[in-house]
Amino acid sequence: MKERNFLDTVMEFERQLESLQGQFHALKEFVAFMMEEHQSLQQENSHLRKRLDEIHAVEEEVLKQSEINAKKLSHLDIGEGYDNLARLYHEGFHVCHVHFGSARKGEDCLFCLAFLNKQNG
Ligand SMILES: [Zn+2]
Repeated sequence: MKERNFLDTVMEFERQLESLQGQFHALKEFVAFMMEEHQSLQQENSHLRKRLDEIHAVEEEVLKQSEINAKKLSHLDIGEGYDNLARLYHEGFHVCHVHFGSARKGEDCLFCLAFLNKQNG
């Protein structure tokens, strides 16, 4: 009777070991998955950082250009300035801050029109 109990105990212990081994295996797979996930997130993060830097560089360039354009505009005096700008616009060039001085290529520009309206009124 005692020996039977002992055998049961040993078999139960074996079952627990097998169950633990299974859990350990699952844990190992989970860790491997998390490490892969971590690596791909790091790569994505560094890629996004690079893109953000590029966008910031473009933003700075646009800001610099619009400051230069604003300076160009401030050199024209107001009354004569409006006539000059209106003429420039009708000759086919942008007078807006966004594209100042570049060719309109025959298309009307809402920025220019809004700008001229504001100067006129
Ligand atoms: Zn324009």
